[in-house]
This record gives sequence, structure tokens and C-alpha cells, in this order.
Amino acid sequence: MMEFKLIAEYFDKLERITSRIQITSLLTDLFKKSDKAVIDKVVYIIQGKLWPDFYGYPEIGLGEKLMIKALSIGINVKEDVIDSELKKIGDLGEVAYRLKKSSGGTTILSFLGASSSSPLTVEEVYNSLSKIALAEGEGSRDVKIRSLAGLLKKADPLEAKFIIRFIDGRLRVGIGDATIMDALANAFGGGTHTRPIIERAYNLRADLGNIAKVVASEGIEALKNLKPEVGIPIRPMLAERLNDPVEILSKVGGQALVDYKYDGERAQIHKKGNDVYIFSRRLENITKQYPDVRDFVKDYVVADEVIVEGEIVAVDKESGEILPFQELMHRKRKNDIHEAVEDYPVNVYLFDLMYYNGEDYTLRPLPERRKKLEEIVKPNDKLHIAHHIFTDDVEKLKEYFYQAISEGAEGIMVKAVGRDSIYQAGARGFLWIKLKRDYQSEMADSVDLVVVGAFYGRGKRGGKLSSLLMAAYDPESDIFYTVCKVASGFSDAELDELQKKLTEIKLDSKDPRVESELDPDIWVKPKYVAEIIGAEITLSPQHTCCKGEVSKEAGLSIRFPRFIRWRDDKSVEEATTPQEILEMYKLKLKKKEEGSESETP
Ligand code: ATP
Repeated sequence: MMEFKLIAEYFDKLERITSRIQITSLLTDLFKKSDKAVIDKVVYIIQGKLWPDFYGYPEIGLGEKLMIKALSIGINVKEDVIDSELKKIGDLGEVAYRLKKSSGGTTILSFLGASSSSPLTVEEVYNSLSKIALAEGEGSRDVKIRSLAGLLKKADPLEAKFIIRFIDGRLRVGIGDATIMDALANAFGGGTHTRPIIERAYNLRADLGNIAKVVASEGIEALKNLKPEVGIPIRPMLAERLNDPVEILSKVGGQALVDYKYDGERAQIHKKGNDVYIFSRRLENITKQYPDVRDFVKDYVVADEVIVEGEIVAVDKESGEILPFQELMHRKRKNDIHEAVEDYPVNVYLFDLMYYNGEDYTLRPLPERRKKLEEIVKPNDKLHIAHHIFTDDVEKLKEYFYQAISEGAEGIMVKAVGRDSIYQAGARGFLWIKLKRDYQSEMADSVDLVVVGAFYGRGKRGGKLSSLLMAAYDPESDIFYTVCKVASGFSDAELDELQKKLTEIKLDSKDPRVESELDPDIWVKPKYVAEIIGAEITLSPQHTCCKGEVSKEAGLSIRFPRFIRWRDDKSVEEATTPQEILEMYKLKLKKKEEGSESETP
């Protein structure tokens, strides 16, 4: 059993000092005096919360009005008295303290030195506060007021002050995780030299209360062997950023696993039997937002217990192609989750594995982690392993970068593969280096492009020509240069009509006026012009438009192109020219640089 008074007294002392060393030493004392059974709760309270954020439980949220009401009941003072005190002092905790102090001395029992009831325990305070936080629905307001009033009635002045401050989110102690870890190292590890052990444990289980409990009851040695636990998120490994492919490759040791960098939401996925938890980059529990992902994991990941990581990406309903981050945002804005799942389907691209059937994988090299990841994912079309290559060749790396962006990725992640290529939980380092599409240019205007070929669709559109190879027309050379493949924006009727339209102008081989590096399923005679809009103009090695103008290896393309309408009023010779596309690209690029939002070196 631990009295809440101890915490209140330490908070009182802590408020008066600012030196980090003194704060750490006070906290060390408090931890040493704490009951091991509730030390996790002591830590949460110091952090100003009731539980780790990843529980996804509500915060305590109790408005000032309700607090005043509870205080009024708890200390038997009229609400308007409290109100006017609050106006004078400006801090309800302090008001509670003063009122409690002036009223507390008057009872006969306390006059005789006996308290009117047993002292408040940490459990009691914690349970009441939890009840206040979790009360929901009808009658919850009364439950909240009653619980708080009960606490305040029993509390001594100092306890009342800190209970109110806690609820108010106004604990002034200002103690960060780093200080708590130092104090835990002092209290249970024999000194701050054991701090790295605590920190590593915290990175593996982002729950400082849990870590405190383990170290307090089992000692520092137990932390050394601590493994991740399904249900408690691991703090994510983060990447450095560099812009020069040569430097990037040498920085990771000359050899790399190069992944597509997907533009979606990072997801850390835990599975134990049939239970699945999904945590965001910030370690919030987002499982409810992705019931579909939960099902994919249940269906396609073969493991009793596993923690993997990947990117959740919005995909085109028909073609399955990946879509920009904004699409995922649309999904998040929907209130009805079933509708959201239906209207904005997602795929997952997995890129790491940190824990598998009782084994901590974080200290194993990346190739080993990736191999295991590949082993446990059954083939399917929802949950993929991130597209990747292994390479030690800068040219290949560059090529792969362009391929990645032309397929809708944001760039690449270049990852070390040597013996030390561990999963550095909670750290940003050069084991992972991101290379984002540096030259990008937002697209404000639509363009008019010519259909020169077509591809058959997948899925629902299987067997139908549903992706068009589009080209710009250069009147000077009389050549059509390819710009993009467009597969979205067509209505069902337009799609049906398309089959007929294209079959009529089908060619046996490429029209000699077309310059293309792609080989579509069918070639067609340049005849139809379509208006196309996209997210931005970007470099791409797959397309011939303006190749050599901006980059030796790449031409200009449109990222996430959409069909708007047919431009039957335009002849193919009136289509947008490569020169115009180049100008659009440069203009936007210049604006970006002026606005210094550019990510270029
Ligand atoms: P950071 O996460 O590094 O602080 P940030 O939040 O701005 O920066 P980015 O700069 O976009 O994010 O880059 C990192 C993110 O890229 C990761 O957090 C992850 O969500 C995403 N990502 C996409 N594909 C991969 C991949 N294959 N490997 C690792 N991360 C990937």
C-alpha cells in the first residue's frame, strides 16, 4: 500500500526547484519509497497521464465548471465562493489548497490529532481518476462529479491541490521522460551509468510505467533481456535524409537494400493469435481505423506472435495502383468506417519485422529480418512486401529511384545491410537514408495529350483496355513523346466506349511517329486527344517527353494522372507540346524554390 500523500509531498518539493540534478535526486527518492506494485501508476501520474497514449483510452477531460462543482461538494463550500477565489488566484488547485486548509482545521477530530478517515492511497486516487476518465454516456457527468467530490473530501490540502492540478493538466513539475529514466537508473540500477539499459528497454516497449515496474521488481538485469511485447508499441526507427546517391550508398557501407518509399501512413502491426493491434508513427492505437488491415494480417501473416512494420497506402479501387497520401486523408475524414473501407481501399507494404514468436529480432541484421518477413507473409494482393532491390551500384540505385517515383512512390529508402544493420528503435540514424523525389512540380493546369497505346486492366477491369499511354506532340520534330499512363477518371460508360474506340484504331506495331520506352499491350494510331490533370510533374525514366532536358536519364511525367474528358475539338497536332510541359515544370519549380519549400539540396 502506498499513500498518495507521498506523491503530493514530492510534487510540492519538485515545484520549488529547477535544477535538473535536484529534480532527479528527489525523483530517485520517491521511486525508492514507492510501492513496487503501483510504481507504474506513480510514473504515469508524474508524466501527467493515467496510462500510455497507445491504450487509446480517453484523457481525463473534466471542465472547470464540473471541477468547481465537485470541489464545492467535496469541501462543502459554495460554488460562487470558489468562483470568486478562482478569479483572484487563477489556479483551481491553489484555491482547493487554501479552502481545504482553512476549513480542515476546524473539525474536532483533526483538532484531536486524528484524521476523519483513513489516508488516501495511490490506488484509490488512481482508480477514481480512471473512473472519471472512462465514464461515458448518460449519467456520466454525475459519476465524474461524485468521484472527484469523494476524493477531494478525503484529501488533505496538498493532495487536493495536486489532484486538481493533475485533472487540469497543470502539474507544474515539468519532468520529461529523460529525467524519469535517470531517476529509475539511480533508484534501481545503481547509478546513471545504467540509463542506456533503461532507455533501450523503453525504446522496445514505449511504456515507461511498465519499464519502471520491471526494473523495480526484477532489477536491472531483467531489463537487459527485455523483449518487445505484443500490445506495447516499439518506438520507431527513423531515417536520415541525404540528396546525393553516391554519398548515400557510401554512407550505408557500399551495399544496400533499397525499398520504395511509400506515401501513406506508417503502421506498426502487432499480432497475437487472432488479436491484431495497429499503432501509428506516433504510437497511437489506430486499429479501429483499419479493420480491413486487421483482416489482411489475420488472413495472410503466419505467426503466433509477431510485430511487423509497413506503410498503409491508399490504392485505386479498380486497378490497385497506389494513390497519393491525400486519398488516405479522405478515408480518415469519413465517419462511417465501413463506408471508408469500401470507398477508399488500402494496401499494406511491409518493410520490417521486429519480433517473432518469442524472439526479439531488433538486434538482428536487416537481411535476416527481411527474410523472416518474407517467410511469414502468404502470397496475396493486399499485404505486400515493399518493392525492393539489393544493390551496390549507384546507377542501379538511381534508376530504381526514378522507377519508384514513376510508380507513385515518394522516393526510396536506402538501408544498410551489414552485420550492424539492427533495428534502431527510437533512433534516427544513417542505417536508413531517405531519398525523396527532389524535383517535383505541382500541376495547376491540365494538359491535352494523345492516346498512343493501351494496357489491359487488372481485377475488375481484367480483360478491358483501361490504362492509356499518353503522349505530348512536338510539331518541330513531328514526334509524339510519352508522358504518362492514365488509368483513373473514367466512368463505366466511358470505359466501355473506350474498348470500341481503341479497337477501331489499333495498329500492329508502334506508329513511327511515336517515341516510347514502354511497350503497351496494344498500339493505336494517334487520333484521340484527352484532357489530363495530375498531382505534379515529375522526373521519370520511363517516359520520353523532354528526356535529356532536365536530366540525362529521365524525362518528364505526370504523377497520379486522371482523365477529365475527351477533347474531340482538338486534333492531335494541337495537343500540348513537350516544351509547354517543360515550362510548366520549371515555373512551378521556381515558385517552390522562391517559397523555399523545396527539398532539393
Ligand atoms: P521521419 O519519419 O523520418 O521523422 P517524416 O515523418 O517527415 O520523417 P518521411 O521523411 O516521409 O517522414 O520519411 C520517413 C517515413 O517514410 C517513415 O516514417 C515511413 O512512414 C515511411 N516509409 C515509406 N516507405 C518506407 C520504407 N520502405 N521503409 C521505411 N519507411 C518507409
